[in-house]
Amino acid sequence: MTTLTLVQGDITRQTVDAVVNAANSSLLGGGGVDGAIHRRGGPDILAECRKLRASHYGKGLPTGRAVATTAGKLDARWVIHTVGPVWSGIEDRGELLASCYRESLRVAAELGARTVAFPAISTGIFGWPMDDGARIAVRTVRESADPAVEEVRFVLFDEHAYTAFEDALR
Ligand code: ADP
Repeated sequence: MTTLTLVQGDITRQTVDAVVNAANSSLLGGGGVDGAIHRRGGPDILAECRKLRASHYGKGLPTGRAVATTAGKLDARWVIHTVGPVWSGIEDRGELLASCYRESLRVAAELGARTVAFPAISTGIFGWPMDDGARIAVRTVRESADPAVEEVRFVLFDEHAYTAFEDALR
């Protein structure tokens, strides 16, 4: 069975098997969670991302998909990179956001990860409203987590995000 937990804090400070990165499709780094992971994790992560770009993901990682690399110097075994959708007020991209959680969990289970830390994907630079992002995250993890994954930990950067996830869990 998978237990969902919440912590307020920095995702790069977690001790888990896999840390999920809110990446962008270039896989070559960015701001927010992505920047923090590469800063603390060191150059080995970017080196593997470059190799992915040179092989399977020549055009970048599509939105809603997930791929794993080393976690470098993070206290984890893998970073699972996933590309969230940019928020749109016109088009419902909720299925793509759900896909990020589902695909990341699928990759985590394939790797044999038992503890997985997620940020609130798309709710930063990509502009997704926190309450809705939290609902999609909690619902999708509940529906799709492989029971071999023991803990899914949502790591929320601030109190607003923490409260939104707390509400979504109820
Ligand atoms: P996206 O481009 O998918 O929106 P961001 O990295 O900009 O991704 O933001 C995703 C969420 O992660 C935001 O809610 C942001 O406040 C939060 N965040 C930013 N840095 C960290 C961090 N070091 N640890 C945990 N959450 C973070």
